[in-house]
Amino acid sequence: MKKIYIFIILFLFSVLMCTKEDNTIKTEITKWLYGKEACISLTYDDGTITQFRVALPMMDERGFPATFFINTGSIPGSKYKPKFVGRPLEEIVKETEKVPTNKDNCYERASAISFLGYRNVERYQSRAASYFQRGRFEEAFKNIDEFYTLVRNGKLEPIKRTTESRGQRKYKPLTWDEIREIAANGHEFAVHTVSHAYLSAMDEANILYEIGKCREDIEIQLGKKHTFSIECPYGINDDRVLEYVFPKFPLSRNRLTDEFVFEIHRGSSTKPESPDKEYIQWQRGPHTDTPMETMKEWVDTSIMNNVWLVLVFHGINDMGWEAKTEKEIEEYFNYIKSKEDKIWVATFQDAGKYMRERMNGNISSKRVNNTIKVELTHSLDPDLYNLPLTLKTYVPSDWNFVQINQGTNIHKVKVNKNEMDSYVLYEVLPNFEIITINESD
Ligand SMILES: [Zn+2]
Repeated sequence: MKKIYIFIILFLFSVLMCTKEDNTIKTEITKWLYGKEACISLTYDDGTITQFRVALPMMDERGFPATFFINTGSIPGSKYKPKFVGRPLEEIVKETEKVPTNKDNCYERASAISFLGYRNVERYQSRAASYFQRGRFEEAFKNIDEFYTLVRNGKLEPIKRTTESRGQRKYKPLTWDEIREIAANGHEFAVHTVSHAYLSAMDEANILYEIGKCREDIEIQLGKKHTFSIECPYGINDDRVLEYVFPKFPLSRNRLTDEFVFEIHRGSSTKPESPDKEYIQWQRGPHTDTPMETMKEWVDTSIMNNVWLVLVFHGINDMGWEAKTEKEIEEYFNYIKSKEDKIWVATFQDAGKYMRERMNGNISSKRVNNTIKVELTHSLDPDLYNLPLTLKTYVPSDWNFVQINQGTNIHKVKVNKNEMDSYVLYEVLPNFEIITINESD
């Protein structure tokens, strides 16, 4: 009996001695997908029809995915239309006769401005929004009181039934059927409120309606995937409003919540360089008079500094705010395309997901005999964060090709070599099976 035990022990010992394990193998997650130097998100606001009739076909031709922040209230078939949530409007107007605007009633009154049925009153609401954001309450109250005095004295012109706009006649309007098709082609749709509302001038009930019901209609029509991102209209960066937004949406273009990102807003002239943050998000919005040279420089600067460049387009051709022409868009897209070896063009959602998965990622890699084994996990919600990541694994310098397996996914990859290193780049899923890398012919 004893002999057998000794034999087994000797056998196991020899097996262990033959298993060569090397824990110095290095694997890292590249900053951007495919190991690219920069990321560009091409985003469009307001659902202006030319974005779909003019820019979208150009994006499809070049294989660029877009992100469209849309207002659902104006799309036929949406469940929720623009509306005021709260007490009867007459009651609110009547109260303004006796009670001056104060901090308890100001948001309710400002919310109601656009629903009273008068033309050209947008400026009162936008002014109130702007005063509130800057904490200039007395001026906001005065502006609201002025508006309601005009209402009570019958000084405002009622809205007449509007006829179709020029653009709607020229172009076939957008439908949910078409939006579904566009989404199926890899483009992202995202929340931009029901009615393009001035959320900074609204009370809680109306803010929640505008963001929540837009999201609900998108979810009904396109599913959860398209409720990841939001942009509150007018690029606001308003603490009071964003407190309602953050618990409901993982990603907001108004403000990022990630401590590892240095964020530069559209209006800021800060340079996209940050010595102390891992990522830089640089938002730029081309206006009608923005020169092509400037727009191209944004791309070059982003490549140089590994930036996430978020471009915000509004109008195209003769429609929408600060419109760019079709010719300009085409030239610009061609420029981005010509730098494709350095740029990952990604939806707003995918770029955000990649960054977060990488920053919350964990890798272990080791070599066991002739196989490199890599494990990739992250600590985020796996239902929401399931984007593949690009890994860079350093391999022995005499390897020329490798085969990479993860579950049933198998691909053969050529080894990249420079004076210092030999490495492979490959895309794999986080929180999935262990990845094995073997030398191949
Ligand atoms: Zn907008």
